[in-house]
Amino acid sequence: MEPYPKPVLRLIDLFSKLPGVGRKSATRMAFHVLNASNAYAEALAEAIRAVKNDLRLCARCFNLADAELCAICRDPKRDPRVICVVEDTKDLIAIEQTGAFRGLYHVLQGHIDPLKGMGPEKLRIDELITRLQKEPVREIILATNSDTNGTATALYLVKRFQPFGLKVTRLAQGIPVGGDIEYVDTQTLGASLKQRTEF
Ligand SMILES: [Zn+2]
Repeated sequence: MEPYPKPVLRLIDLFSKLPGVGRKSATRMAFHVLNASNAYAEALAEAIRAVKNDLRLCARCFNLADAELCAICRDPKRDPRVICVVEDTKDLIAIEQTGAFRGLYHVLQGHIDPLKGMGPEKLRIDELITRLQKEPVREIILATNSDTNGTATALYLVKRFQPFGLKVTRLAQGIPVGGDIEYVDTQTLGASLKQRTEF
């Protein structure tokens, strides 16, 4: 039998469901909350509630948003002529953190995966096509994952983009910055040779 009172046990159970959190860490977290101020515990509970209640998907790009449009779509300094297509919001955040992209995004909300019954109709692809009809887009950057499903999704999109005569680019694949050539796997090294750039 667990030695903890029920409310503590419930918190431990819930924390231990978080990714990467084992029973031991969950117990530490629960006791941290237990010993924290009421204000902190309330703020934590409220933050969790707000993530579920106050967030929605951006009506234009399907990024997470706290209003009809997300902060990126609302920013007048972003370049609407370039759209970077990603599979999910985590990918968008990773690209945003580089600070190297000033265009807009389109979040597909997944990738094509025939084995899991994920056809293109389940992704936000029609919405992207509608954007191409309405917005001044010149270039699409395909930033789907470089695995089989991500590549299949990119190939499907290229076909759908054909009528628009856009410049379509894909993220380069190659040697990591600071990487050592002898340790790079053969496929990646091959890709980096094909996608070499002028010095
Ligand atoms: Zn948006």
